[in-house]
Amino acid sequence: MIDSHCHFDFEAFDSDRSQVWARCLAADVERLIIPGVSPTRWPALFDQVEAQPAWHAAVGLHPWWVAETELEPGELQRQIAEQLEAHACVAIGECGLDGAMVTPLAEQEPLFRAQLALAGELQLPLIVHACRCHSDMLRLLKEYRPARGGVIHAFSGSPEIAREYWKLGFYLGAGGLVTYKRAAKTRRAFADLPLEAILLESDAPDMPIQGRQGRRNSPEYLPQIAAALAELRGIPAARVAEQSRRNTEQLFALDEF
Ligand SMILES: [Zn+2]
Repeated sequence: MIDSHCHFDFEAFDSDRSQVWARCLAADVERLIIPGVSPTRWPALFDQVEAQPAWHAAVGLHPWWVAETELEPGELQRQIAEQLEAHACVAIGECGLDGAMVTPLAEQEPLFRAQLALAGELQLPLIVHACRCHSDMLRLLKEYRPARGGVIHAFSGSPEIAREYWKLGFYLGAGGLVTYKRAAKTRRAFADLPLEAILLESDAPDMPIQGRQGRRNSPEYLPQIAAALAELRGIPAARVAEQSRRNTEQLFALDEF
């Protein structure tokens, strides 16, 4: 299995990263995609992925770090392009919009636009954070139509919205949320989508699965997300694991890394 989205570079794993990684391998989680979130954190991320061939980085500015970064869109583009020259990256991200934040969407949007434009220009896929902003997000993706598409990570929403993203060339990331019975709408979306549209992700250290609320999440629990999806769809967990691995390899062209 591949964890298509985890923040394994974060401090939450500093004390036991190699032990957690050993448990991931024992649980058949063999590759990690680790998105970048802010220029201050990119160097540590690259140091880690460059020491471990099974981990892959992406580079971007996450909406939660927009306010503290205080970058102009053009300068952000320049800095991301510079990182892409210097390091192997599978995508641009994590970037996007978050309607649940104090930073207004109008302030987040120019920086997201800068990353959308760069992904189109450099023919890279996008790792997108889309929280409480589906209509704005769909409007922007329709405007830019980035050629390599991307993933709407930790998708939460209706089957209709999920299908709209998939039509635009965006996979949907299934995370811990699908293990919660109360997430009925999102569970319906993941039961309804073609299996070819779904990536598995932990979003660790956030988004703990059912039964582990309030504790650190980890990519080692990815098999439990695969099992929840398999139960929803009435198919074997091995099929979910296998197809989502292929989808992740295809989106990020992992055979080139
Ligand atoms: Zn994330």
